[in-house]
Amino acid sequence: MPADERLLHPDEALKIVLSQVRRLPVETVPLAEAGGRILAADLIADQDLPPFPAATMDGFAVIASDVSPWREIIGDQFAGTMEGIEITPGTTARIMTGAPLPHGADAVVQVEHTELREDHVVIHQEIVAEGENLRPVGSDLRKGDVLVSAGSRIGPAEIGLLASLGHAEVEVYRRPRFSILSTGDELVEPDQVPGPGQIRDSNRFSLTVAAEAAGAEVVWSGHAPDDETALRELILKRIAESDVVITSGGVSMGDKDFVKAILNEIATVHFRRLFMKPGKPLNFATAGDGTLVFGLPGNPVSALVEFEIFIRTALRAMTGQQHPEPATASAILEHWVAGTDRIEYQRGIVSVDEAGQLRARNTGSQASARLMSLVGANAFLVIQPREAAYEAGERVPVILLQPVSSER
Ligand code: AMP
Ligand code: MG
Repeated sequence: MPADERLLHPDEALKIVLSQVRRLPVETVPLAEAGGRILAADLIADQDLPPFPAATMDGFAVIASDVSPWREIIGDQFAGTMEGIEITPGTTARIMTGAPLPHGADAVVQVEHTELREDHVVIHQEIVAEGENLRPVGSDLRKGDVLVSAGSRIGPAEIGLLASLGHAEVEVYRRPRFSILSTGDELVEPDQVPGPGQIRDSNRFSLTVAAEAAGAEVVWSGHAPDDETALRELILKRIAESDVVITSGGVSMGDKDFVKAILNEIATVHFRRLFMKPGKPLNFATAGDGTLVFGLPGNPVSALVEFEIFIRTALRAMTGQQHPEPATASAILEHWVAGTDRIEYQRGIVSVDEAGQLRARNTGSQASARLMSLVGANAFLVIQPREAAYEAGERVPVILLQPVSSER
């Protein structure tokens, strides 16, 4: 399949990737395992919560309009039971936070506004409003409300709602199955001592952690030498068993860059080169029953930058997340940045200053093999092509990858 060699704008490339994404199938998991997963169906309240009017304070259940200066205590209403107490004018019952309101009562006077005397209590609050210190039926959730929409990540609040509504099992998208393949004759394992001209394979580990952090299940990872036949077989097998196959290396112009040729042969290649730096080469293809194949360059930084922009976005779309594109903001540059001839994704640190403004600085040398440029980075500074340098104080778009904190 001929793929054109022109440099594609990353935004355009991202659109193509998203157009090839298929939603993953849905699976049912026990509630306790649903944290961090992506909800596959809207969560709709099938009941009112609270289902009974409940006290929000420890105190006394009263009739608001009752003006008796003191009340006879006729019982105790704890949380978790419904005593058959009936409050009438002149009477009250002790009530604890979370307990259902006894019949007849319509308010709770908090214990701090009362004074206990043997078998009765003096109310020191002059005016008690109906409904005071009560959570009315349905005040937290109304039956029929859409509480959490499909495509949302299940965090602490979402799982709390699922539990409250009695969902012992939850329908979530299956985690995407990833295979990660490093290619290159020069690569040795981390526990080996590299010989002359060799380096340790770092991409396999970086990409595995990036994929897992994004919610993928890495079903296979490995290394293959620059051997066309062996590579082709391996890539075909990984395509058959994965939703996403990531390769690193072998997509440039070198004589042993076989990944490119293999993808041309066994897959539909949608684009090959991007108008960006780092990471000009990116072979994006689909194969088999819709498996996405990302042929990343071997440079560790290029590979991770492209992962963040394209693969993480694809992964979000596969699980129906509503805004799959990277989150962008605008930040004030803290230092000058040289002009660039391709869209440059500088690795940087974005923080919030005292005035509440986002400020951005890069992480030093932006050489595309320098993994240190990604250490501690929480953002990419998106530097648009122009001849003139960017001055300190100019605003640039930033892609936020990690939470932003106050200025460090
Ligand atoms: P390539 O894309 O195969 O031309 O590789 C570009 C550069 O990245 C070369 O310097 C490779 O040695 C290096 N490289 C390739 N694969 C890896 C890897 N898995 N881990 C670390 N560096 C790599
Ligand atoms: Mg190579």
